[in-house]
Amino acid sequence: MVPLFHPYRRQVWATIGIVLVAAAVGVVNPLLIRTVFDTALFVTGGPDMTRLLWLSALMVIMAVASSGLGLVQTWLTNKVGQQVLSDLRTKLFSHLQRLPLSFFTGTRTGEIQSRLTNDVGGVQGVLTSTLGSVLYNVVTFLSALAAMLVLSWQLTLVAVATVPVFFLLTRWVGERRRVVARHTQERLADLTAITEESLSVSGILLSKVFHRHSDELARFDGDNRQIADLQVRQQVISNGFFYGIQVFLGASPALVYLGAGLLLNSGSAAVTAGTVVAFTTLQTRLYFPISQLLQVMVELRSSLAYFDRIFEYLDIEPSIIDPPQPVVIDRSAARGEVELRDVRFRYDRAAEPPHWNLDGVSLVVRPGQLAALVGPSGAGKTTIGYLVPRLYDVDEGAVLLDGVDVRQLGHLSITNLVGFVTQESYLFHATIADNLRAGKADATLAELRQACEMAAIDRRIMEFPDGYDTVVGERGFRLSGGEKQRVAIARVILHDPKILILDEATSALDTTSERLVQEALGRLMEGRTTIAIAHRLSTIQAADVIFGIDGGKVIERGTHTELLSTGGLYASLYREQFGGGRIEAVCSDGVRMCDGRVLPRHEAPVELAS
Ligand code: ADP
Repeated sequence: MVPLFHPYRRQVWATIGIVLVAAAVGVVNPLLIRTVFDTALFVTGGPDMTRLLWLSALMVIMAVASSGLGLVQTWLTNKVGQQVLSDLRTKLFSHLQRLPLSFFTGTRTGEIQSRLTNDVGGVQGVLTSTLGSVLYNVVTFLSALAAMLVLSWQLTLVAVATVPVFFLLTRWVGERRRVVARHTQERLADLTAITEESLSVSGILLSKVFHRHSDELARFDGDNRQIADLQVRQQVISNGFFYGIQVFLGASPALVYLGAGLLLNSGSAAVTAGTVVAFTTLQTRLYFPISQLLQVMVELRSSLAYFDRIFEYLDIEPSIIDPPQPVVIDRSAARGEVELRDVRFRYDRAAEPPHWNLDGVSLVVRPGQLAALVGPSGAGKTTIGYLVPRLYDVDEGAVLLDGVDVRQLGHLSITNLVGFVTQESYLFHATIADNLRAGKADATLAELRQACEMAAIDRRIMEFPDGYDTVVGERGFRLSGGEKQRVAIARVILHDPKILILDEATSALDTTSERLVQEALGRLMEGRTTIAIAHRLSTIQAADVIFGIDGGKVIERGTHTELLSTGGLYASLYREQFGGGRIEAVCSDGVRMCDGRVLPRHEAPVELAS
């Protein structure tokens, strides 16, 4: 945490100065009390009014000064604390962004959100008040102790004797609170995750479709009740501690009176009334800092739970980082060649024996070629797609772009070179123009429109009353599937990468949308190297090379005609998915028969039926 305070060291020093002065000023008043009592108020011949007036005025000034300084100190410490807090939040956010995809596939979204908001919020108190509080209380304690010793060392001994009991009490309370705080945070993270999962658009759809209301509710309710219980425990522990301190504060003057009585009786020390009153006033200045310091300790201890959770994330080293001297491939000079050389890769690096998701994959896609990856689900096609823009690092072998290992390229070079069209087109909750500008930040409206014309979506966007300023809902729910895909395609057109990874959507679109998306994709692929995880027959047939993937290996490669004639994996997939030949009948409700089978509605067999 210390480096986080570094930029604000001037304010920190100013705080320290103010705290020292304020604490010293605070001790002056009790000492004045003795002077007032013994030299102005209870003197032989009646009170000395002039002296009393001056001393009273001085006491008022001291009180005002002490409070004023306290206020300035509160302002300063909060200002520094809040700045550090916001820096910490930004640091965590930016760190999370640098973590590899594997971190996010292995962590629940709600969990991450909770640490960023709840846990960082949890350390707020500690960050804003610890420094000032510790200093102020230490100085107050020491100055009060010094003043007490000046008044009477015997009475000071009596007052200090109870201090150890405080420590034991606080240690115990702190431990209990830490445990409860950790549990509460865990349950809160669970609750956020449940809320996030079940109240998102997709989650609520799932819940409605499968009638899962009661299950979700039971899960939520269980966690929710636990949180309530934990909160009650936390409050009771804290308040119990507070009342314990009250007892000490109430009982301790009695001990001092007793002590003073004994001293006077034995005649061993002269104790004036002013001394006793000043002493008991000082006594609160002795106990109060102790209780405050212990309270800070308790808070520090409970906030350790939050710090643990924050630093657990900050301590994860991003595994995919830029090399010290990255090779730069200029956008204009790029050719767009992709090669996978003897690549072995596995998601689960801990599993023994190792299970390779890609096992010895070698393939080359020449500049401008269209390569199609085909194969059964789970074969490793998407994984190959992820390796090209270095979303994961290979375990063995290498991925090369224009002959350069991706591990030698900077992240910026890779993103400039490689574009990705995912199956599910993700649109931010923002205007269409903002969503498009994710592809090219400084694109003008004319450029946006040009890209959208190429993606066959400009006309549709202009139909909205707000045109390109139309806000699309979270995940773009106000656009149809095909429209979203075309916006996503326009975004990649703006980005203008040399290499395109295209994960074709398997979900069915109606015929018109399908045709529009196809056209948009066709224009997008022009002049680029494309690796398509292909589900559409038109893509596969147009491919310069088809790679048949199965079990993490490339088991065959060639063109459509070549592979059909070899009669291997591709040929059987082709027969299975697209039927082999002719449309035999189109029923009145649109159901089509092909080779004696009903053809899935979304396949387009007419062109293939050669
Ligand atoms: P395809 O795209 O060919 O359907 P994938 O490349 O998505 O196949 O997956 C290949 C294999 O890797 C599958 O067995 C899948 O279960 C596994 N896999 C995919 N993603 C992950 C992940 N994040 N963690 C662990 N295993 C994964």
